[in-house]
Amino acid sequence: MLNKQDTPQLVSKLPSVGTTIFTVMSRLAAELGAINLSQGFPDFDCDPELVEAVARHMREGRNQYAPMAGVPALRDALAAKYRELYGASYDPETEITVTSGGTEAIFDSIAAVVHEGDEVIVFEPCYDSYVPAIELNGGVPVVVSLTFPEYAVPWDEVRRAMTARTRLLIFNSPHNPSGAVLRAEDMRELRALVDGTDLLILSDEVYEHIIFDGAAHESMARYAPLAARSFVVGSFGKTYHTTGWKLGYVVAPAALTAEFRKVHQFVTFASNTPVQHAVAEFVAARRGYPGLSAFYQAKRDLFLRLIEGSRWKPLACRGSYFQILDYTAITDEDDMTFAMRLLKEHRVASIPTAPFLYRQRAPQVLRFCFAKKDETLERAAERLRAL
Ligand code: PMP
Ligand code: GLN
Repeated sequence: MLNKQDTPQLVSKLPSVGTTIFTVMSRLAAELGAINLSQGFPDFDCDPELVEAVARHMREGRNQYAPMAGVPALRDALAAKYRELYGASYDPETEITVTSGGTEAIFDSIAAVVHEGDEVIVFEPCYDSYVPAIELNGGVPVVVSLTFPEYAVPWDEVRRAMTARTRLLIFNSPHNPSGAVLRAEDMRELRALVDGTDLLILSDEVYEHIIFDGAAHESMARYAPLAARSFVVGSFGKTYHTTGWKLGYVVAPAALTAEFRKVHQFVTFASNTPVQHAVAEFVAARRGYPGLSAFYQAKRDLFLRLIEGSRWKPLACRGSYFQILDYTAITDEDDMTFAMRLLKEHRVASIPTAPFLYRQRAPQVLRFCFAKKDETLERAAERLRAL
């Protein structure tokens, strides 16, 4: 341990930020030997052929810096995907950038366009990286609460929250932590809201391929007037069961991409080369995502069946790999307290929504990740049913 007295006094740039709830819960789950349905990641492995492809690219010597914007084969494959799925034409040269995870893409987008004092609309509960990224870049987060228990966008409140300083709106569909998705009506409202303005959109679509009950993913890319002002963020971690590889991307019109790349080139410069080559093969061959929704829908349905008849009440989950459960029939404890007790006494780790909230008191619900082997879900459900 170094001598503390030698370190100069600091003024924190993020005084109210501590260690993320994901780190806290996963660490405690490991220490206590609990079943970990907290942090969002699969407990099963990715396609062995994808691992083999990474190893092959490494053996073939693709081990040096990738081009700053990403390996061309991967950008081409993404351009083809956006054309096929959303009818959008992104130029891989000037409108597609590969990043070190969706998190980097979110941070760089905010850093690229938010000036000191600009207001950014975020919807709570919101993914925990948004607000710190806004604050670090001198922006002012303006928090609008999603409705409960639908987690829908209250459009009247959005209109009321807009000011002359509003610069950016951040959407996330399918939504973490709730599993809610944007609908065609939402896209109509949004188009009306931004029409004729200079507003920009950051659309976190990392769960785009995990959407249930036959719904179609409402990407900003589908609507030309929205795509023209949007950074659309994706993550290969979610699609290929490889959250630890930290590879993502952003698609955005050329003018936005130019500013984005000015930031990206100094945050990471470029992302992991052999992984990009391997993922490019999978995206080009349409491997992984066409069947992903059905795969996770079966897991959601299994988890719901397993807890049926218990005191846990599920809210609607229409996408993502998170299920929110209402626990009001079990206890009146707040969500942080109950999540800790559930972990320590019953050995099941979950995520409370309080860390994603800024204005509202947390409702009595917990988030459970069902990206887990069936036997993991069965063991967890057995413990949940006992409450
Ligand atoms: N946005 C949301 C809503 C997420 O759930 C995640 C996953 N942690 C990310 C962004 C970040 O993705 P990545 O792991 O690729 O950085
Ligand atoms: N997105 C993951 C979740 O919501 C966690 C990612 C992280 O730990 N930063 O659980």
